[in-house]
Amino acid sequence: MPKTVVMKFGGTSVGSVPALENVIQIVGDTRQKWPQSVVVTSALSGVTNLLLEGSQRALDGDTEFIAQTEAQLLERHQAIANELIPDNDQRAAVMQDIGGLIDTFGDLCRAIAVLGHSTSQSIDAVASLGERMSVRLLAAALRSHGLDAQSIEASDLIVTDDRFQAAHPDFELTAQKVQAGLQPLFDQGCVPVVTGFLAATEDGIITTLGRGGSDYTAAILGATMEADEVWIWTDVDGVMSSDPRVVPDAQTIEELSYREVSELAHFGAKVLHPKTIRPVVEAGITLRVLNTFNASHPGTQIVHKRDASANGSIKAVTAIKDQRMITIEGRGMLGVPGVAARAFGAVAAIDESVILISQASSEQSICFALHAQAADRVITALEQAFAAELQIRDIDRIWATEDVVIVTVVGAGMRNIPGIAGSLFTALGQEKLNVIAIAQGSSEVSISFIVSADDVEDALRAVHSLIK
Ligand code: ADP
Ligand code: ASP
Ligand code: MG
Repeated sequence: MPKTVVMKFGGTSVGSVPALENVIQIVGDTRQKWPQSVVVTSALSGVTNLLLEGSQRALDGDTEFIAQTEAQLLERHQAIANELIPDNDQRAAVMQDIGGLIDTFGDLCRAIAVLGHSTSQSIDAVASLGERMSVRLLAAALRSHGLDAQSIEASDLIVTDDRFQAAHPDFELTAQKVQAGLQPLFDQGCVPVVTGFLAATEDGIITTLGRGGSDYTAAILGATMEADEVWIWTDVDGVMSSDPRVVPDAQTIEELSYREVSELAHFGAKVLHPKTIRPVVEAGITLRVLNTFNASHPGTQIVHKRDASANGSIKAVTAIKDQRMITIEGRGMLGVPGVAARAFGAVAAIDESVILISQASSEQSICFALHAQAADRVITALEQAFAAELQIRDIDRIWATEDVVIVTVVGAGMRNIPGIAGSLFTALGQEKLNVIAIAQGSSEVSISFIVSADDVEDALRAVHSLIK
């Protein structure tokens, strides 16, 4: 089997001429050693947000914004094409395709404006346009630099269900399509450049995998192709001990176990989409996170070994913002059967997910965190589910906190080491930071706690100072 690698480039990595020059260099170098190289790309940085804002403003009837956005999209892509696709005919051909996609954006948004209504399906049709533009630009730029590259829409490769905006792939159907779609290109010595983020239902309707989902695209392709490695090229030196934007002295973590990185991704480390890890690591594929702007840096390798360096030290700290804690409390709760099951059932029934469950301070309450936007709907659903108990005062009240932040400390083996929790909470205490709740992480490699939204940066720095 020829060696196969999937390389995913994020929005910043393809968002400017200097960044794309690095990408062209990286793909060229890699192609020499890896006969089967696949590129996955995000939309240019900021473009997905712009598209989504366009569809939102269209809903409010703001057609002027649509026209402004069309102009902005054209300018962003044209400026890059001018620099990186010197041949006039090739540049014109690519810009014609991109112009057609921008027209589609305008048509969709104007339809939304006229109808005064949008659906998840139409939002996905709009959101996916960014990647559909960027693949064309990148493939043409690679060709202009002597690499045989061809743009591919993942709607021809990845089959999902119809949960628009958060679609689930069908790995079996996808594997067949990936094989049929990519093998002929490899046989010609061509580098496929595939859209991240988007996919399609069996009927061919465009879906997306959720925000930040291009990482997941790379994982799906890697797993279904049985690639040797998947590389996530981003704008920092790999997975770091904290978000370097918040904690300036964050360091790269050379090696992380599957479970550690899963916890980090689940609890807010934006550097890897949480769904990326499982398909890749379970298939025994090496997963690396690398820096497009510092390509010789080894970055981070995710290893399958169970908690390779489980020496019990804290490795990283991360935060997930815009959360609220919901509490169900009442003295009669002990006698009520299945409160937890019914509570989580009611949350699931309205399609919301609980991020974590907190250790209650007494047995008379249940406490959990979820996204702030969901809080009102969830409380209504819980009040309905427990209407009878509320009436007879077995349950006194169901309420939500103000916005809070979940801070998660990650490191395999940490929980077995006496004193870690002590030093953690001492460090927070010294900074006079109030811990609202302490939570059970979903595995043994993390400890989470809740602080008020105002305290997040101080809490991250205080915990980070404990990392050796
Ligand atoms: P891309 O567009 O390449 O997918 P993202 O913006 O999605 O990039 O993710 C990279 C960003 O994630 C970094 O710029 C960094 O600010 C942020 N980040 C948050 N937590 C971490 C962490 N623990 N390690 C590295 N980066 C992190
Ligand atoms: N462009 C998409 C987003 O911004 C997907 C990605 O970049 O991973 O969410
Ligand atoms: Mg990302």
